Amino acid sequence: MTLDSDQLAQATYGEVFGHAYEKRLSTQISARLVRDANGLRLENADGETLYAGPPSNVERISGGPSLLSFGAQWTFDTEDAKGAELLIGRAKDGWLSDLETWHPRLLIVIAACLLGVFAIWKWGLDLLVWGAILLTPPAIVTAIDAGNLGAMDRILMDPTELSQADKDMVRDVFEDVRAHAPEAPYGEYTLYFRKADFIGPNAFALPGGTVVVTDALVEEFPDQDILAGILGHELAHVSERHSLHQLYRSLSIYVLVAMIAGDVGPVLEDVLLEGSALASLSYSRKHESEADVIGIETSHAAGYDPAALAEFFETLSEDFGDTGSNDWLSTHPSNADRIRIIKDLAAKQ
Ligand SMILES: [Zn+2]
Repeated sequence: MTLDSDQLAQATYGEVFGHAYEKRLSTQISARLVRDANGLRLENADGETLYAGPPSNVERISGGPSLLSFGAQWTFDTEDAKGAELLIGRAKDGWLSDLETWHPRLLIVIAACLLGVFAIWKWGLDLLVWGAILLTPPAIVTAIDAGNLGAMDRILMDPTELSQADKDMVRDVFEDVRAHAPEAPYGEYTLYFRKADFIGPNAFALPGGTVVVTDALVEEFPDQDILAGILGHELAHVSERHSLHQLYRSLSIYVLVAMIAGDVGPVLEDVLLEGSALASLSYSRKHESEADVIGIETSHAAGYDPAALAEFFETLSEDFGDTGSNDWLSTHPSNADRIRIIKDLAAKQ
């Protein structure tokens, strides 16, 4: 590499120490490279000039010393590659040493980019879902409830056949639990009874606060403590917006972006208001555990025995097996774990 006058003009005054080699001989001597008002010189330890003028060649070794040739006779090496570079002028092919200098910053930039990609992959959909939830007007959520309940009534459910006494008993429990549950985010919690054989002994909640209890649940578990635990659990799905979360997660990213942009088109209205999409969705394990915790606190606050919920799951396990064709069981990794956690929580109330 040859240095041109531009590069030399950028050079600064100073000195670096190293060793000089006379090319004919193999011995090395202590030497310094110095630039002052008189120009660039290679000097020996006694201050005698070995060579005056710019180097004829510069070799950079990654992370190591620089090797500079002066005329036909001298070679100079130094550990202070950066210092030597300042004296002889910044080299145009210095990208390698630049890269070395930038190393920590480059690593931080790369790490930040990877973190960004990871965040979008892991939380991007969740962020979109939460954005859509926060921007959904309460009236829409109420309409989602009415639309889905209507669709399920047409396709999946029949009117209740429970006795008035059974309904009154459950309604009393519901009122107690509702009074101690976290506030409903959209309107009120409302109880409905339905004969819904496709889900067996069960209860479910729609995003706006509609809670449906099946005939089979009341017939097989006419225990107020168990019912209180289940109703507390369902109300928690509403208060924590689990149901709306699951519904929005099932939508495409395109629809979510359109919702956030305020463009609730006819397709979306079909999906949200006319469909029975909610009937086929199940909660995540995280949501189930969250609803268990809040439900236990609620039923305890309402004066019921929260440990009864564990009894309910134990009975379900015996009837349906631990893998569960019943969706109370299939939504959780291990029913045994769930029962143990509920018992622990109940004991702490
Ligand atoms: Zn649940």
